[in-house]
Amino acid sequence: MSGFDETYDYVVVGSGGGSMCSALVMRQAGKSVLVIEKTPHIGGTSARSGGVMWIPNNRFMKRDGVEDSFEKSMTYLEAVSGGRNDTPGSTYERRRTYVEQGTRMVDFLVDQGIKLNRIAYWPDYYDEMPGGSQQGRTVVAELFNVNELGPWKEKLQPNFMTLMAPLDEMLKLQYIKKSWEAKKLAVKMVLRTIGAKLTGKHFITAGGALQGRMLQAAVKAGVEFRTEAPVRELIIEDRTVTGVAIIVDGKPFRIGARLGVLINAGGFSHNQAMRDQYQPGTSAKWTNTIEGDTGEMIQEMMRHGAAIGQMEEMVGNQMSFPPGTANDPVKPVVQGVTASPHCILVDQSGVRYMNEGGSYMAYCKGMLERNREVPAVPSWAIMDQQFMKQYMLAGSMPGSKKPAEWFESGFLKKADSIEELAALIKIDPAALVATVERFNGFVAKNHDDDFNRGDRAYDRWLGDPFHPKNASLGSISEGPFYAMAVVPGDVGTYGGVVTDPQARVLREDGSVIEGLYATGISTASVMGRVYPGAGASVGPSFVWGYVAARHALGAT
Ligand SMILES: Cc1cc2nc3c(=O)[nH]c(=O)nc-3n(C[C@H](O)[C@H](O)[C@H](O)COP(=O)(O)OP(=O)(O)OC[C@H]3O[C@@H](n4cnc5c(N)ncnc54)[C@H](O)[C@@H]3O)c2cc1C
Repeated sequence: MSGFDETYDYVVVGSGGGSMCSALVMRQAGKSVLVIEKTPHIGGTSARSGGVMWIPNNRFMKRDGVEDSFEKSMTYLEAVSGGRNDTPGSTYERRRTYVEQGTRMVDFLVDQGIKLNRIAYWPDYYDEMPGGSQQGRTVVAELFNVNELGPWKEKLQPNFMTLMAPLDEMLKLQYIKKSWEAKKLAVKMVLRTIGAKLTGKHFITAGGALQGRMLQAAVKAGVEFRTEAPVRELIIEDRTVTGVAIIVDGKPFRIGARLGVLINAGGFSHNQAMRDQYQPGTSAKWTNTIEGDTGEMIQEMMRHGAAIGQMEEMVGNQMSFPPGTANDPVKPVVQGVTASPHCILVDQSGVRYMNEGGSYMAYCKGMLERNREVPAVPSWAIMDQQFMKQYMLAGSMPGSKKPAEWFESGFLKKADSIEELAALIKIDPAALVATVERFNGFVAKNHDDDFNRGDRAYDRWLGDPFHPKNASLGSISEGPFYAMAVVPGDVGTYGGVVTDPQARVLREDGSVIEGLYATGISTASVMGRVYPGAGASVGPSFVWGYVAARHALGAT
């Protein structure tokens, strides 16, 4: 190793999900670590996110008596992700390692003083499959008083959720009109907020809480950070990665890494050229990832011969844009809308084409696939007055008067009959009427014969637990009727470089690029082409970060 301006034991590129977890493993072994981040903020999209990690067989499930095991988790992962030969990121060995090491990674974080917990009920997204869990396998951070970060507070990538409440409490709030539990939770939230103000605390939630806690632990453990320092190049000597080159004050600066370099630089959601190449028909304008998600480190690893996989995959998130929101950093997501009773999704020929209750990844994939046969981007959410009275829409409260500009701009279409609504959105009225009548027939018999919507626990979880018979099925029968365009946005890409069960980056011929590890959505996902449950992006970022550091230390 020669010619470096600085040298550390371990260098991490990007400060997202698994970076600080990996760094903590290294610090525990007494090794020096530098995390290099190109934006001014630490935490990545992981800090902006829900902060949910999908960790099978975790200690909190055991604590709460929720059935799970290594075998059950593997049965599920094999059922949803296994048996394919087009997912190099998701080999059997990697899936097995994920399940095994995920449990340990959580134990490690808890031992490091990171306060974690589980969400009591968030079903796996294919809970009906063998090994699926209805209660779910989520791990989240407890609320975090961000003031504890002191001067580092300003450095943390902000989260968009401002309520001082855990995610599960927030999700229940929408039923405030229907449920005493939700009313009580609202009171609890108000009291918590007042209490915090009086005691000089400021609680943050979701991904902010997770990454805030990780940053606090990392700083305490002596991890070093450098922000606004984009990594431009990997430095390679004798086919081994020995460091990285960044730009400091306009000049190249070379940083050496004795034990290895971990790339955790996110995906390529903001890189339209890469999207056009690998995911035609998708748009960088429809992503909720942070601005740093531009894919150059994936390209840099490719330049050095790294194999790539699953580049066509993204974690879709259905979106719709009320006037003035198109350029918001966090764009309105309408996932719960079309899975709620009294709402369906149709393509531009007026036909329903999927279970609107599926995972957001499957949903948006369904839209893009449909669009190859029938125009379906955008598709139309069709709702009736029963929906409007009971459910939130694009941030507006149930039953509230919708802003006039929603109608003037064409964001929300309204008509007294389905035929008139169809004309407004340029769909054959007879086709839309037939679709709605067919769906209403399924509602009457309480089963969606076309797509089984509402059969599995996850669909019903997305729906309304207070709705009679089926939480996801309700007729579209009470005028006026409404339509809203829905597009396949995303919360991240899901393909990248191929890594082995030790998180080492592989070449096309399967050989290891020595000294180079990768995690997070810079890699081809261990989950293959599906999203098994909430947290299947942040979870793997942490787990492979943990695995990489242990391997670099010679521990695995
Ligand atoms: C609103 C929202 C909610 C979400 N909720 C969840 C959830 O609850 N659970 C879940 O699993 N997923 C969720 N996702 C998706 C998930 O957040 C991301 O897929 C995940 O955070 C990616 O983590 P990562 O560690 O791979 O990358 P990131 O957390 O994005 O970190 C990558 C970092 O690398 C930096 N970087 C990039 N290039 C360079 C470079 N050249 N040099 C230096 N630094 C660089 C970036 O600036 C960034 O800070 C959500 C996403 C959004 C937008």
